[in-house]
Amino acid sequence: MSDNRHEFALIDWIRLRVGEHPRVPLGIGDDTAVLRFPEAADCLLTVDMLMEGVHFTIPAVTVRDVGRKALAVNLSDIAAMAGRPLAAVLSVAIPRGRDREFAFELHRGLQDLADEFGVALAGGDTNAWDGPLVVSVTLLGETTGSGAVTRGGAKTGDWIMTTGDFGGSLAGKHVSFQPRVEAAMCLHESVSLHAMIDVSDGLAADLHHILEESGVGAVLREDEIPISDAARAIDDGKTPLEHALGDGEDFELLFTVAPDDGRQLLAQPPVDVLLSHIGEITAAGTFELADAAGKRTPLAASGWRHTF
Ligand code: ADP
Ligand code: MG
Repeated sequence: MSDNRHEFALIDWIRLRVGEHPRVPLGIGDDTAVLRFPEAADCLLTVDMLMEGVHFTIPAVTVRDVGRKALAVNLSDIAAMAGRPLAAVLSVAIPRGRDREFAFELHRGLQDLADEFGVALAGGDTNAWDGPLVVSVTLLGETTGSGAVTRGGAKTGDWIMTTGDFGGSLAGKHVSFQPRVEAAMCLHESVSLHAMIDVSDGLAADLHHILEESGVGAVLREDEIPISDAARAIDDGKTPLEHALGDGEDFELLFTVAPDDGRQLLAQPPVDVLLSHIGEITAAGTFELADAAGKRTPLAASGWRHTF
C-alpha cells in the first residue's frame, strides 16, 4: 500500500533501476508480480525481517548494509537447502523524517546483491511511519539436483564439515558475508549431502538443530574448527574457540556427508572456499568436544564447554 507521493516517487525510481528479468515478465508495478516458474523443481520460500534497534543500529551499520543484509540472510537460507534463488519481494517501513537518499541507499544495497545472484526484485510494499527502520525480504527459490537438502538426514558415522571460518562476525562479517549459494549447489552436485544448515545462531547451536532433526549425536574436534582472525582478535575473556562455537551470524554452511565423500571433497575441493572436517556424527545423546589428546567434554548448544 502506498499512501503518499513520496512513496510513489520511490517506487518509480526502484522500477527504473530494477529493469527487466525473464522470470518476471511484467516487472514491478502491477497489483501482484507475475513469475515464470521452472517446472521441474520444487519451490523454496523464505522470509526474514530486520528491525532497527533489535537486529542492527544505525550508524553502526549503514542503511546500505541493511538493504544488502536483508537479502543476504535469505540467500543464505536458500543456500542451506542447496537451492537456487529466483525472485524476492521487499517490505519496508521507513522512519518518517529520513530523506529520500536513505530509502535509495537501502534499495541499492539490496539491488547490488540481487544482481550478483541473478535474483529478480519482483515487488514490494513501502510505508513511512514514526517508528524505526524495519525491512522484510521474502525470497523464492527452486531446488537443485536431487532436491532440497534438509536438517534431518545426518547419519551415524558421517563427517561433519563446514565452509569458511567462524566467530567474531560482529566485527564486520555479519553484514559483508557472501551467501554460500554457489558453493552449496556445487557441493550438492559433487557428493550426497546428508544434512545441511546455514550457521546463523552459532556453530554449536546450529549443529544441535541438525542433531535434533536427524536423531543423532556429534563429537567435534577442537583442533579442526576453523577459527576466524576476527574471533582471535577479541579480548573479552572468552577463548577464540568459544567465539567460533558460539557467536553466530557466520552464515557459513554446516553439512554432513559419508566419510568417503568427505575425503573426496578435501582431496579435490569442487569449490574455492575453505572446506573443513570438524567432527563426526555419533549415536543420539552425545554432544561433545574432543581435544588434541582425544579427551572429550560435553558441549552446550550455546557453544559453552562444560569443564569439570
Ligand atoms: P498495491 O496498493 O496494489 O499493493 P503499491 O502501491 O503498494 O500497490 O505498490 C505498487 C507497486 O510497486 C507494486 O507492484 C509493488 O510490488 C511495487 N513496490 C512497492 N514498494 C516496493 C519496494 N520497496 N520495492 C520494490 N517494489 C515495490
Ligand atoms: Mg493493488
